[in-house]
Formats: sequence, structure tokens, C-alpha cells
Amino acid sequence: MSDQAFYSGLQSKLETLRTEGLFKPERVIASRQGSEVVSQDGRTLINMCANNYLGLSGDRETSDAAAAALEQYGYGLSSVRFICGTQTVHKELEQKLSEFLGTEDTILYAAAFDANGGVFEPLFDENDAIISDALNHASIIDGVRLCKAARYRYANNDMADLEKQLIAATEAGKRHKIIVTDGVFSMDGTIAQLDKIVELAEKYGALTMIDESHASGFMGKTGRGTHEHCGVIGKIDIITGTLGKALGGAMGGFTSGRKEVIETLRQKSRPYLFSNTLAPMIAGASLAVLERISKSTALRDRLHENTAYFRKEIERIGFTIKPGTHPVVPVMLFEAPVAQKFAARMFELGVLLSGFFYPVVPMGQARVRVQLSAAHTREQLDTVLQAFEQAGKELGILKNQ
Ligand SMILES: *Cc1c(COP(=O)(O)O)cnc(C)c1O
Repeated sequence: MSDQAFYSGLQSKLETLRTEGLFKPERVIASRQGSEVVSQDGRTLINMCANNYLGLSGDRETSDAAAAALEQYGYGLSSVRFICGTQTVHKELEQKLSEFLGTEDTILYAAAFDANGGVFEPLFDENDAIISDALNHASIIDGVRLCKAARYRYANNDMADLEKQLIAATEAGKRHKIIVTDGVFSMDGTIAQLDKIVELAEKYGALTMIDESHASGFMGKTGRGTHEHCGVIGKIDIITGTLGKALGGAMGGFTSGRKEVIETLRQKSRPYLFSNTLAPMIAGASLAVLERISKSTALRDRLHENTAYFRKEIERIGFTIKPGTHPVVPVMLFEAPVAQKFAARMFELGVLLSGFFYPVVPMGQARVRVQLSAAHTREQLDTVLQAFEQAGKELGILKNQ
């Protein structure tokens, strides 16, 4: 406690964040997660900003499944997996995830952040090349940093640039090349062109990896993910993803792929070797979620109905959105102060939304990001759309105004 300058330095950096409007406050929820939440001050809000795509986070069936696993397997293991931290429920979940994703084997992590952080270093070294989309998630960027492979970056979703980078890596004589992309990019709801990526991978003898955090459980006809959506199941080498979004919403992550890849990760991946086992209640609840969504596509269908309805209506009212089909709907407000004012007004009108502006998104691309859920009722969506219209009129930003 003798270096006062350290603390005053932090204080002034925090102050700068506040004055620049970049400070991130936390909203405190006093209820379960859901399409409607109760905030700390007792107000009920319609929630449009959770990654709760299938509505399973605050869902009774999910928490009952967690309670059953809690009872059967206990609270936790106080161990990493390889010492005394693997239970039947973990092996069962790994097997079911593999079946669901169409892969050979799967390894569980405490978070997708760990899955991405621990996937590159055990598999690639300075002789290899990682070719990464410029908008990939922070955890992929960190994972790549921990690995000695050469780094190549291609412009977001730009297949011509990807090919350029593949040529560059090939000309540099790299032994193995791996193309890495988010299956879906969470700021724009952009879906990666996996059919084209697989084609390029085949042309240049490269491996492929996708992060399915915003896709597992609801993209594709049966919810298996972006690889199903793009018709390339069985053609992706490595799939990472989270249990903390659509697939139940608690926490946990996974890496899935060929047996020899997963076995290598079990032997060498540091976030797996040196971090505690996923709590058995999460594994148990995740199994119940997988079973539920494998039996019926009702939740997934409901989500896509809600998405189509919201996308159509919000444009009819006079807002500009990024076109697409994903339940992430960026409603463009362009200027940061407008996005801030808008989100604040929506909060007063009972709608929970998040605003994004520079540096999270490019300058002049400020927006509020709506995330649809299977749990939203048509009535809730209509209430939200009315609030959008009212706030839009008040701020004078509707197209046909
Ligand atoms: C949310 C997210 C993660 C992190 O998932 P956690 O399980 O919460 O660590 C990783 N990658 C992408 C693309 C994500 O959206």
C-alpha cells in the first residue's frame, strides 16, 4: 500500500472513462433472467439484451434439471478433471455434444473464453499459420496471442481477402494453416460464409475452426449451428462454443472435433489442466437442454418467428437495421449521443436494451442491439415496438417522420 501513485493513476483513468462516456455500469436484476426481469428498484422491464436465445436461462425445466444433478452429483469437485474431477455426467455431456455437433469428441471447459484461450497453443507452433477474421471474439484473439504460430488477419467476412491471406501463408511455406471465424458475429448478426470458407480451405489444404457461441442451439434446421445453416456439417475441423448463451445460459464452454485433437487438448490445454471442473449441475442441466432441443425444434422455430416479426415491424416503423436473419438485430442510430439517449429513454419506457458506439463499433455506426428470444411473447414484442416508435418520434429519428 505504499505506491500511492499507482492508485491515483487508476482513479484518473477511471475518471477519463466516465467523462468520455465509455464507463460500463452494471444493471442489477432482482429476479430470474427472462423475457421480463425485475430490476433492483422493483420495476418490471422487457428484456431485449440477453443472449437467452431459446429462453432457457430462467426457465423452470432448466433449473429443475440443474437441481436434480445437484442432488445426484453434489455441488462441485474441488479438482481439475484429470486428478479426481470427472463424473459420469461430464462424460455423458461430452458425448451428447459430439452427437449434436456431428463430431467425434468434445472437451468441456469452465467457459468458452477458456476453450478459445486453450485451443491454439497445444496444436500449433511457429511453423504454422492462423488465419483469423478481423472481427473474431476477444477470446480467440487472446488464444492466438498465446500461441507461436504466424498470424494472418482477413477483413470481416471478406472471402477475397481470406484467399489473399491463404496464398500469403502458403507462400511463406507454413506447415499447417487454420482458418478461424466466429460462426455468427455478435455485433452485426452477420453469419460467416462457411460454405465458401470450406471451399477455400479445401483449395489451400487448410483446417477450419468456428466459434459457435451465438449459434449453437438455434442456427440451422435442427439448431446444430452455423455449420448446419451453411450445409457443412462434418466439414469443420474444430468447433468451440458456450453453454452460457442459448444452451442453458449458466456458464461453461467446449471444444469439439476429431478424437486426436480433443485427446491432445486433454493432455496439454492449460485452462483444462489447471482449472476446476465444470460444476456437475451445469453439466446435468446442459444434458437436459440438449435432449429437449433434439426432441423438438419448437423453441428454435419460435425464436425465428419472433426474429422475422421484429425485423419486419421495426423497419415498417421507420428504423434502419442491418439486414439479415439472425436474432441479433442491430438498430442503427449512427451517432453515439443518439444511441445513448435512445437506450436511456427506452429504459424509462420499460425496455432493457444495450447501446453500442465507438470504439466497440466503428465511428458513425452507433446502434442499439436487440436480441430476440423464444421466450418473448407477441404481446411483449408489440409493447417493445410501440416504445421504439414513441422514443423514435420524440428524438425525431424515424425515416418517414
Ligand atoms: C460469449 C462469447 C464467448 C465467451 O463465452 P463464455 O462461455 O461466456 O466465456 C466466446 N466467443 C464468442 C464468439 C462469444 O460470443
